[in-house]
Amino acid sequence: MRVRHKPWAKDKLSAYPQYVVQTPEENRGNWQNIFEQKGPIHIEVGTGKGRFISEMAKANPSINYIGIEIQESVIVTALDRLIDADVPNIRLMNSNAADLTTFFAENEIDRVYLNFSDPWPKTRHEKRRLTYKTFLNTYEKILVKNGEIHFKTDNQGLFEYSLWSFSQYNMLLKYISLDLHNSDYEGNIETEYEEKFSNKGSRIYRCEVQFK
Ligand code: SAM
Repeated sequence: MRVRHKPWAKDKLSAYPQYVVQTPEENRGNWQNIFEQKGPIHIEVGTGKGRFISEMAKANPSINYIGIEIQESVIVTALDRLIDADVPNIRLMNSNAADLTTFFAENEIDRVYLNFSDPWPKTRHEKRRLTYKTFLNTYEKILVKNGEIHFKTDNQGLFEYSLWSFSQYNMLLKYISLDLHNSDYEGNIETEYEEKFSNKGSRIYRCEVQFK
């Protein structure tokens, strides 16, 4: 995602430690204690401007959510949402998904959401796709046994690649929609990208896959 650089973003993220976890590695193995109420922890990798994760947190108060985003100029918009909404069961991390095992212990996370991940269409960039096998291995390490990834995208190439990558990794493909907005799936919460692309007429693909 290309965004305008916001030189003030870093200071703003530091000013709200109640929403933005400043040293996530210090919570490794101890994430249950940072939330007001214990419960399953769901993370969104590449959370962008945060609409999905904050709406999910409002809709599911017994689940704790963490939005992870590498770009500070983007996640600062998610922070504004949290300040406005003041929902207790959500935190943000300005971090790289490649480092997830330094932030979370084994079995600490109950579900991973990937929404409209960067497609990296060139073959030479395959390793950067968030559904490449090294990322799957990282998610598997931090997820509970039989943990799930829920994935949405408008990009047919990335979707097909990801289904292949999940099945090569011997994951169970539990649910697949090739046209989410014209399916019987209920309770969909749109992300910012989802709204943008579906307004342009793009089809939205979605799947739920599980580690065996
Ligand atoms: N999920 C949001 C949505 O659907 O509106 C944002 C989608 S945007 C295309 C992908 C986001 O993933 C970008 O904001 C990007 O900075 C973030 N991202 C890409 N690689 C990442 C990584 N390794 N760790 C954390 N965030 C990452």
